[in-house]
Amino acid sequence: MSYFRNRSKQALPLDVQQSTGWSMLRTLLGILWALPLTLCGLLLAVPIMLAGGQLCVVWAATPALLVSGRFADYLLERHPFGSMCAMAVGHVVIADRQSLTPQILTHELAHVHQAALWGGLFPFAYCAASLWAVMRGEDAYWSNAFEVAARRAERHA
Ligand SMILES: [Zn+2]
Repeated sequence: MSYFRNRSKQALPLDVQQSTGWSMLRTLLGILWALPLTLCGLLLAVPIMLAGGQLCVVWAATPALLVSGRFADYLLERHPFGSMCAMAVGHVVIADRQSLTPQILTHELAHVHQAALWGGLFPFAYCAASLWAVMRGEDAYWSNAFEVAARRAERHA
């Protein structure tokens, strides 16, 4: 909080200060709103870290913890929906060490942003979007609106 106050005393235009304050508040609210999901992500991160994994903070518009390691690779290879390069669970991104690219990270950060918007409802909304795609005769994953939006974000990586 003091860091923010010090920053607001700097000679920034008023609209920039308000925008910074608003985006910090929005980020904090998103972190709190998605906390139930993030706790699930942290539960997955514990065995990854215990198996010698690495963790770092990704300071993006919607921040996230990036977790990788041998056990992350194992989990992603055996994901129930098929082998994956990465997955986001709340504000935790679990990534395969070999295949993480800026595009994949951007894709997962889009899911982190979606989780911050939907909070604990996100898994239900995601499943509903898959169901909606199937009802239209399309693919549950590729035509899921959340995946379509994340792939769109990838193009700006
Ligand atoms: Zn995705």
